[in-house]
Amino acid sequence: ALMITDECINCDVCEPECPNDAISAGEEIYIIDPSHCTECVGHYDEPQCQQVCPVDCIPLDPKRRESRDELMAKYRLITAA
Ligand code: SF4
Ligand code: SF4
Repeated sequence: ALMITDECINCDVCEPECPNDAISAGEEIYIIDPSHCTECVGHYDEPQCQQVCPVDCIPLDPKRRESRDELMAKYRLITAA
């Protein structure tokens, strides 16, 4: 999963781009729900939020490293629900 760092300027550009509705406005900055972030696997070749963020503050979460297979399994779980 990806994460949003405290460099976020709350511009709201990323939220509508997420195919999994994983992004929302948190109390101070935008946040990603890791249970819904597939790093865009299953939908796109590149993480869509990273493509649009003007301040480049959406890195991979080092605590939530997942293989492509795991991300694909998450995608299947989400889209089956
Ligand atoms: Fe959503 Fe894709 Fe960004 Fe994850 S990488 S938060 S699925 S847009
Ligand atoms: Fe924050 Fe970047 Fe999303 Fe804008 S696009 S709300 S700066 S994470």
